[in-house]
Amino acid sequence: MNIVVCIKQVPGTTQVKINPDTGTLIRDGVEAVVNPFDEYAIEEAVRIKEKNGGTVKVITMGPPQAEAALRTAISMGADEGYLISDRAFAGSDTWATSYTLTAGIKTLGKVDLIICGKQAIDGDTAQVGPGVAEMLNIPFVAWVRKVAELNETSIKVERMMEEGYDVVEMPLPALITVVKEINEPRMASLKGKMKAKSANIVKLDTTNMEVDHELIGLKGSPTQVLRSFVPERKSSGEKISGETAELAQKAASVIQNLGIVK
Ligand SMILES: Cc1cc2nc3c(=O)[nH]c(=O)nc-3n(C[C@H](O)[C@H](O)[C@H](O)COP(=O)(O)OP(=O)(O)OC[C@H]3O[C@@H](n4cnc5c(N)ncnc54)[C@H](O)[C@@H]3O)c2cc1C
Repeated sequence: MNIVVCIKQVPGTTQVKINPDTGTLIRDGVEAVVNPFDEYAIEEAVRIKEKNGGTVKVITMGPPQAEAALRTAISMGADEGYLISDRAFAGSDTWATSYTLTAGIKTLGKVDLIICGKQAIDGDTAQVGPGVAEMLNIPFVAWVRKVAELNETSIKVERMMEEGYDVVEMPLPALITVVKEINEPRMASLKGKMKAKSANIVKLDTTNMEVDHELIGLKGSPTQVLRSFVPERKSSGEKISGETAELAQKAASVIQNLGIVK
């Protein structure tokens, strides 16, 4: 089973500041980590490999320092790391990111299963997984909480819904995006850390990937960010306490005072 995991390096905090002039994130001095949802994707891929055999390749698009995210994945049990990095990809929106990742995945040979996180904790769009599946023209299921069955030709998964779950089966190759309910990511072993330290990370850029230069980076991005800002906090909130009946009465009066209901 050839499994590819897409991972993104994200700031290890939700308190990221935005440059008011450029509207871009201020990343200086902010610790970078593997997107938490992608840790579940890595863990699931490694578990599948341990059960069925095969290879786990991790791929990321990002600045040169995103290499650290790939090494983290290798320390958790992934076999190979691929870093897509080129100034020409700067400013990519989710469409251009999906396009570029798709081009990178196409260089990896036969792929049976692609696993992504549900969403990235910084961009938060949850668009890249489905975007890659669409561009590769393969089926996908988002919000997977369990891989129920897997063989050489098909996969059956449980898709988390607001109430309960769906059981969905699809042919391989396919893509899934996973939620945190799927597993408990392992801590890297010492052996894993040693392997990660010396692993060869393959660099992919516009010279060794087949990409249309009109479709990458800012130029290839159909979305334009006009302004980004942190919403102003209007009030600090009010904490109410007491017994159930008293609480209900207090909550009702707070709602009434807001003027939402009479
Ligand atoms: C006009 C525009 C310009 C932008 N310019 C920049 C910029 O200059 N610099 C910048 O950092 N961001 C930029 N962004 C944000 C960037 O587009 C998104 O961060 C990126 O497309 C991923 O989207 P997301 O974070 O919402 O990921 P989601 O779609 O929420 O991620 C879902 C899953 O997809 C996979 N995934 C997502 N991104 C990657 C990746 N890069 N590599 C591998 N796997 C991935 C992961 O498995 C992840 O769990 C820009 C966005 C727009 C709209």
